[in-house]
Amino acid sequence: RILVAGSANLDFVVRAGTIPTPGETVLGRDFQTFPGGKGANQAVASARAGGAATSMLVALGEDDYAERLEASLRAAGVELTIRRQRGVPTGSAFICVSDDGENAITVAPGANACLLGSDLPALDDIGLLLLQLETPLPAIEAWARRARAAGVRVALNAAPAHALPQRLLALIDLLVVNESELAALTGIGDDIGAALARLPVPMVVVTLGALGCCARIDGVLHPCPGFAVEAVDTTAAGDTFCGVLVAALAGGADPEPALARACAASALTCTGDGAQSSIPARDEVEAFLAA
Ligand code: ADP
Repeated sequence: RILVAGSANLDFVVRAGTIPTPGETVLGRDFQTFPGGKGANQAVASARAGGAATSMLVALGEDDYAERLEASLRAAGVELTIRRQRGVPTGSAFICVSDDGENAITVAPGANACLLGSDLPALDDIGLLLLQLETPLPAIEAWARRARAAGVRVALNAAPAHALPQRLLALIDLLVVNESELAALTGIGDDIGAALARLPVPMVVVTLGALGCCARIDGVLHPCPGFAVEAVDTTAAGDTFCGVLVAALAGGADPEPALARACAASALTCTGDGAQSSIPARDEVEAFLAA
């Protein structure tokens, strides 16, 4: 079983010709709300991937947004441990998507910021703990420490971009980052190989957008090409990658096929609108890989 401890946000998405610059107002169109948040998206991706059962520790307020997020997670088959936070709004994200597919996102963490190290449920039947950086860093470190002590593998998606203490990195078995997160972690922005080599983690994966990804496993590089798709909204592509990768690895797949499956699933996510709404099910990924 996989346990995700992380964020859930309701995404407020507006499409516009261009993303406004500071002080500018633009008229957008097509306003929609979608269940999102890195933690919840990754839990949904893992559950839909079907390699292992998926649970999630999540913090929600007592508002309508919470109900929507809970329903989306449960519909995907994610078993929930909920920290219910009174007097604090459920997390939300304000997203502007431009016509050329770029996005700009402001997150209001709300209840996500209330998660504590002591909130982690029992780890008895957990084989892998998956974390991101949308919850408080002290809680993340406490969760990783408890998992490590219990012999549970720890995967971290170091997003959004943030520098991390070495003592946290030392607890991680699998690290997934995009190029800007890799640069933020290592201070190396112009040499991916050197940046990957800088990280003291057995398996590090950098995602490279349409180009796919590159993994460094026990010192050896494994590039994995991307899949060509017509991308309409790349929201949750990185989250799909993380959820599907850990589900495949926890299900016993070797790293290279697991990476290919994560690339295929995240490419499919780019072909649909929104976050959780665009994450493919296992049979869609299988059909895409077989085509
Ligand atoms: P993030 O969205 O977190 O910045 P990336 O842009 O690297 O991360 O995307 C994550 C993964 O999603 C990539 O490794 C790739 O497999 C897939 N992906 C992203 N954009 C595209 C695209 N335009 N076409 C195909 N696959 C994509």
